[in-house]
Amino acid sequence: MPETRFEAVIGLEIHAQLLTVSKIFCGCSTAFGAAPNTHVCPVCLGLPGALPVLNRGAVDHAIRAALALGCRINGTSIFARKNYFYPDLPKGYQISQYELPIATAGALAGVGITRVHMEEDAGKSIHEGFADSDRKTYVDFNRSGVPLIEIVTDPDLRSASDAAAFFSRLREILVWLGVNDGNMEEGSLRCDANVSVRPAGESALGTKAEVKNLNSFRFVEKALDYEIERQIEIASTGGRVVQETRLWDSAAGRTVSMRSKEEAHDYRYFPEPDLPALVVDAARADHIRSTMAELPEMRRQRLMEQYALSEYDAAQLTQSRDLADYFEATVAAGAPAKTAGNWIINIAGSTLPIERLAGLLALVEKGVISGSIAKGVFETMVASGRAAEEIVAAEGLAQIDDDSHIAGLIAEVLTKNAEAVAQYRAGKDATFGFLVGKVMKAAGGKANPKRVNELLRGILSAS
Ligand SMILES: [Zn+2]
Repeated sequence: MPETRFEAVIGLEIHAQLLTVSKIFCGCSTAFGAAPNTHVCPVCLGLPGALPVLNRGAVDHAIRAALALGCRINGTSIFARKNYFYPDLPKGYQISQYELPIATAGALAGVGITRVHMEEDAGKSIHEGFADSDRKTYVDFNRSGVPLIEIVTDPDLRSASDAAAFFSRLREILVWLGVNDGNMEEGSLRCDANVSVRPAGESALGTKAEVKNLNSFRFVEKALDYEIERQIEIASTGGRVVQETRLWDSAAGRTVSMRSKEEAHDYRYFPEPDLPALVVDAARADHIRSTMAELPEMRRQRLMEQYALSEYDAAQLTQSRDLADYFEATVAAGAPAKTAGNWIINIAGSTLPIERLAGLLALVEKGVISGSIAKGVFETMVASGRAAEEIVAAEGLAQIDDDSHIAGLIAEVLTKNAEAVAQYRAGKDATFGFLVGKVMKAAGGKANPKRVNELLRGILSAS
């Protein structure tokens, strides 16, 4: 009997914190790192009688993200209560969206986006770090009520590496748009994955496991590789995969069962009575669309076309919106695109004002200074804040183009290196490079290297 080949079917659920100053239903700060329970109020502590008010900025961010993912924005969406008990959820329910989310039916890089919905985050249980942590759990409610979107994909991914690449692409877009800070260590971007396997070629889905706690691209790839292999092992030996939630244990390098379907929650969703339906009219969505930043993929394409950059350079220059803006502003200030691109890639993170960098690159382009002299001038500019022209003039760094000046230097070098000259004339070509080096050194690195080569060749063959 031929061995059955299996394929993996993966869908992702990504939680992204929206970059608002205040929480989703109250005015408390969302800043990370504050002392525990200092960013709280009756609303986000779930005290009786406190009423939620929806944060308009959070809705705008959710719309922005959904549009970038090609989703349809639903004119009316409904907040719902997701009921469960946990100590970090004082209300006994989380306000989320269920049947009618804010956006549906998008796609990114060939992967369908099922839905984007808004919800509030819960607090944080702290199980360690206190003297009595063996007996007690502490709770910090600073995160309680922080605005999130959950992005749910269709089960369109077929490998762990594809899932990791997709998650990375999604992160790039959210950060680029200023919707999320991309900080997985602080928990502002989190990924869960639904994984199943089936015999290759079949269309019915196998029983899935949900793998949680994937807070880096590497963990997504490692955890899914492990989980796919685990399920194939079960399926190919006649066993049955159990529907359950599993946690990625990064220290042990495996997924472990957290709870089975029998223990799964019945959340008893119902519409949130304290919030009206969320209405987003077409004008609001259109306005957000029209003021949205050009997306990274489009910008890469445009940079390649508009400035004749290589794919590599365009990718490097679109590592962030700031860097891409800096590049385009430098070119607009008169710097040649290819030179500016190379420089900016190499000095990423420098805060040199645009017109200063453009001034330096103009000197390189005009041949006033060489590329290697420019590197030293750049460092002096950063350290002193002076302009390139000023430094070049003050330190006498301008390139020596004058033929008679260069010929004078050559004559000196040839006199001092008679032996090398004899060797060259005897046919030892390698000596030529040695002599060029001597001339460049005599010129303090400032002679035009092309002219040095030409003149030296001419002088050596003439005499
Ligand atoms: Zn609050």
